Amino acid sequence: MRNTNLDPTKQWTLKEPISFAGVGLHGGEPVGVCVMPAPPGHGLVFSRVDLAGRPRVPALAEYVSDTTLSTTLTRGKASVRTVEHLLGALHGMGISNALMAVDGTEIPALDGSAEAFVRALMQTGRVSQEIERTIVSIDDRLEIDSGDRSVIYQPAEEAYITYVVDYGHRLAGTQCWEGSITPPVVKRDLAPARTFCLLSDAERMRAAGLARGGTFENSVVVLDNGYSSPLRYPDEFVRHKVLDLLGDLALVGATWHGQVVAVKAGHSLHVELAGRLRSQAIAQAKSQRRAVAAFAS
Ligand SMILES: [Zn+2]
Repeated sequence: MRNTNLDPTKQWTLKEPISFAGVGLHGGEPVGVCVMPAPPGHGLVFSRVDLAGRPRVPALAEYVSDTTLSTTLTRGKASVRTVEHLLGALHGMGISNALMAVDGTEIPALDGSAEAFVRALMQTGRVSQEIERTIVSIDDRLEIDSGDRSVIYQPAEEAYITYVVDYGHRLAGTQCWEGSITPPVVKRDLAPARTFCLLSDAERMRAAGLARGGTFENSVVVLDNGYSSPLRYPDEFVRHKVLDLLGDLALVGATWHGQVVAVKAGHSLHVELAGRLRSQAIAQAKSQRRAVAAFAS
């Protein structure tokens, strides 16, 4: 259902709860998540409803505890793993506030993409709230490097991503995607892109006890002479990396504007950039409060 009354300057939530069930990609355990509307200023917050007291874990960069293969958030004894595709869907579709009730340690993998999250969100609809959306942008250029991997941020009037990957494989070599990040682009060009891995990596991860829930139904495996299922886009892998980046940048805790250029990056570099933008968001909020206090005194 299309909502034409959405105000892009205001915070948004979803109209009705939406639920998903499946297995976690890495743990392989059955798990369900219910995404519920939340009030203005609430943010995107997970709640481990299978634990006593239903402890909450905000989707913010300071709660990242692991970035191996996926992004894990932890507060106290409560952890939620593989948050990036659900967060990419919500953040990418402009949702500022939602409570995500999870009854296990990991978000269900579904088909390895964010398509089902976005479809359900569009069916229930989004709604503008009373409070202004916070927009974070930085005046300076940031660069985070790790060997031949890097993430660069530079000021821009909108959210724009350029992503380059190179897996050195005949079928999964160099791919590049770039574009403005808006809800229609996320829905059409990014959300359906699935998790992928090379066959050699899949075998190595299985031997290490990782990706236990990984199947040909929830990831694309790059075989020596083809793919485990037909691709949804010729450059599906780099589009999935953009989705991962969007999910990790949800951890800024606000809408961001800027141009992000990621080269062979991954969750750890994405999260480091989210942390830097988040520090800026906190500094901006403090200076606004000081300005209001000075005006009022
Ligand atoms: Zn992913």
